Amino acid sequence: MPSFELIHIYPSTFHSKLLEQEVKGLTLGNGRIFISWQHFEEGHEDDDDKLHVGLHEFAHAMMIEYQHFQYVSPWKKWRYIGERMMTEIRTQETHFFRKYGATNIHEMWAVTVETFFEQPKEFRTQHPDFYYATVAMLNQDPCARMEILETI
Ligand SMILES: [Zn+2]
Repeated sequence: MPSFELIHIYPSTFHSKLLEQEVKGLTLGNGRIFISWQHFEEGHEDDDDKLHVGLHEFAHAMMIEYQHFQYVSPWKKWRYIGERMMTEIRTQETHFFRKYGATNIHEMWAVTVETFFEQPKEFRTQHPDFYYATVAMLNQDPCARMEILETI
């Protein structure tokens, strides 16, 4: 991602002047990623809780790098399903995706990427259309990889 020239690592949460709050990670359009190392490690250690600040921030970075996916052909379908999913999240008491995803399409994308890598099989079972739309966006299928490894 050539637009991103700097990754700031903080020991733990840090204050964002922009958001006026303590945060675990932040990705800015000027090519900078900020990450709490404590939360990066925690997210990485627990690999199936659908929380991973590293995946989350790099998903934002990817979206910025590819100009909000305006020229990425699978995006149109992904966005259509993603917006439907945001409505579901807002109206349902509990949902497979965490509430934060319903904030806006950027957060929906980042939360989906975390979920995609941390619970791919559950994702595919519960929302197959959305799972395969994400496969098309990221050009990889973690379930297929897991199934190949299981047969070895
Ligand atoms: Zn975010």
